[in-house]
Amino acid sequence: MRTVGGSKVPLRADLALIEGYHSPQVDVAVRLNTNEAPLPPPEGFVEALAEEIRSLPFHRYPDRSAKALRAALADLHGVGAEQVFCANGSNEVLQCLLLAVGGPGRRVALFEPTYQLHAHIARITGTEVVVGRRDEQFGLDMDEVARVLAAAEPVVTFLCSPNNPTGRAEPADVVGRVVEMAPGLVVVDEAYGQFARDTALPLARPEGNVVVVRTFSKTWSMAAARLGYAVGPVALVEALHDVALPYHLDAMKQAAGRIALRFRTEMEARIAGIVEERGRLAAALANLPVEVWPSDANFILFRPAHRDAADVWLELVERSVLVRDCSTWPGLDGCLRVTVGTPAENTAFLAALGEVLT
Ligand code: PMP
Repeated sequence: MRTVGGSKVPLRADLALIEGYHSPQVDVAVRLNTNEAPLPPPEGFVEALAEEIRSLPFHRYPDRSAKALRAALADLHGVGAEQVFCANGSNEVLQCLLLAVGGPGRRVALFEPTYQLHAHIARITGTEVVVGRRDEQFGLDMDEVARVLAAAEPVVTFLCSPNNPTGRAEPADVVGRVVEMAPGLVVVDEAYGQFARDTALPLARPEGNVVVVRTFSKTWSMAAARLGYAVGPVALVEALHDVALPYHLDAMKQAAGRIALRFRTEMEARIAGIVEERGRLAAALANLPVEVWPSDANFILFRPAHRDAADVWLELVERSVLVRDCSTWPGLDGCLRVTVGTPAENTAFLAALGEVLT
């Protein structure tokens, strides 16, 4: 039994079963391991934020329900503000979701390989995780979905679209069928939604069973600010506010989120640039001795042929290029994931990988 420091207080036994999920923060020139935006926020953003911060009443607690930010997000998506919940990154949104509907005696379903934090956060909240498998090409097999949902009767079914780390978005009709079959909530994690054509947002109705989770960490170039949100049923959003800590969103973050939304045009141009670079990366990878999977996100999954993935990862680090080693994740033997960076970063990655593999 692990205890706390010199005391006799036992740690929760189940914590020993929960492995950490962290990408090493190595000091390299080209960081393509955590799917962030390759560029800082657009010109004008920092000045506008600084201006607003100067006039903040720092001695007062922030707006507890983040009314202005939620109204701006509601506007962006054409829904009511009562359908929007914001938190410190989409990971905290997911944690609040599981605090509200998970817990001992309840189950969630997910389909691996997928974003590991869904299972991780579920377990931390004492929720049982029932794992289904994706097909060989990492798509959802509807027979497997039906089997898992019938056996588990989950309170939450997780989808991740585009799926991290495999890359493909779920087609709208597949999401629609899962939503019809699921006995509980369907959480569609769209952290990379802006890079794909389809979105489940139209399914996130005020009285429905679909929640879409999004983040400012990727397209909005604000990973450092930690801001994410959910669009979902009104009653669930109320429950999310009940489980979140009072004043959990600081005033600076609320301002940062509101101001970022004024730069939508610039962000859309950047998305187009990243999608173009993704195409260039995919085409170049196709000429190297690797297996590559198609991507609708800002990253690409690949598997070096005839080489150990961990060795390739290390040899890239020695060339000052950091990618994500996914080779120990369920169903991803031998796989690495590269984030689409700036054109110069992508070129540096391709040169380094070419050297390592040939
Ligand atoms: N969902 C998915 C699928 C992700 O890949 C990530 C980032 N790794 C997150 C959620 C969490 O993002 P954040 O907490 O930065 O909003």
